[in-house]
Amino acid sequence: MAKKRFGVSVSRSLAESLDMVAGMLGLDRSSVVELALRGLLEDYTHHVIPHDCIALIAHICDRDLVEVATVIGGYGELRITQLHSHTGEKCIQILLVAGSSSVIADFYSKLAKLKGCRVKYMPLHEISEVARRS
Ligand SMILES: [Zn+2]
Ligand SMILES: [Zn+2]
Repeated sequence: MAKKRFGVSVSRSLAESLDMVAGMLGLDRSSVVELALRGLLEDYTHHVIPHDCIALIAHICDRDLVEVATVIGGYGELRITQLHSHTGEKCIQILLVAGSSSVIADFYSKLAKLKGCRVKYMPLHEISEVARRS
């Protein structure tokens, strides 16, 4: 595949992390950046192209927060299957979410705004499958 070169500036710490990961994987910098960018763009398209989406949302908070249950309870239009666990003080939730991609994006952003929490969004299908169907 033809490659296009362009310059990118990142923080020193991010560049050091990139070199560390590239070394661990035995890949060059460009290959790691290409992998990361491909994943980011694939995930981002789930937010911008309207479709019926299925995704995992992993959520970890410093402590049990009542606000999490309030956010989840406010999205009755999504089909949410929930695994809830605690490790020490940490509250961990794995949510299998199905429904409108725009509603899932809104749900995700509400969870991501909660203080002391970290959220990961993992779509479980290729967006290109959706684009081909429509
Ligand atoms: Zn999707
Ligand atoms: Zn909890």
